[in-house]
Amino acid sequence: MNKIELEKIKKKALEEKIPIIMDDTLEVISQILKEKSPKNILEIGTAVGYSAICFSEYLGGDGYIDTIERESNRVIQAKENIKKAEVENKINIYEGDAVEVLPTLNKKYDVVFIDAAKGKYPFFLEQALRMLNENGIIIADNVLYKGYVMSDYNKHKQRTAVRNLREYIAKITENPNLETKILEVGDGLAISKKIS
Ligand code: SAH
Ligand code: MG
Repeated sequence: MNKIELEKIKKKALEEKIPIIMDDTLEVISQILKEKSPKNILEIGTAVGYSAICFSEYLGGDGYIDTIERESNRVIQAKENIKKAEVENKINIYEGDAVEVLPTLNKKYDVVFIDAAKGKYPFFLEQALRMLNENGIIIADNVLYKGYVMSDYNKHKQRTAVRNLREYIAKITENPNLETKILEVGDGLAISKKIS
């Protein structure tokens, strides 16, 4: 991959206020991916491709990433960026709403990264579990949502997102087939390993 291009992509995304993965979050995920060398990764929420490009570095063998994005202008930018970073043979974008795209997928993934509409996290979890390999990992970003999720303040307009993030956390915590850690990096990162 082309690291110089990657830095440019990051800079431009930050300038345009696109909510790309934070540095500390990326560091934690990179460590996990380095250990695991996943064959395939499913990402929900491509934006302009920054995280997918970063993750592609850690794919094992001829692995690939499938990533879903619903905003067509972002898909266009992501495709350009992926090309510039020279990883177009490793990343495949599905354009559409993940709520509609996910049920049409029937593959197995070693890692699923959830980083899209917070109100849909419980549904994304259901779909991720359906496609997760044995010993697979589900990683979800923004689960603490600026501290709203763990506070009792409930009057802001993001109430639905907060309720659904709480439901997500409850589901991963209660699932006997998952071993979950929630880290206070970035905007909150949930890491759930499938145990058999
Ligand atoms: N993973 C990216 C950042 C993703 S930002 C990175 O770290 O570089 C979240 C993205 O998810 C936005 O671009 C938004 O358009 C997209 N998104 C939100 N809800 C979605 C949905 N239901 N289906 C598909 N994409 C969605
Ligand atoms: Mg995020």
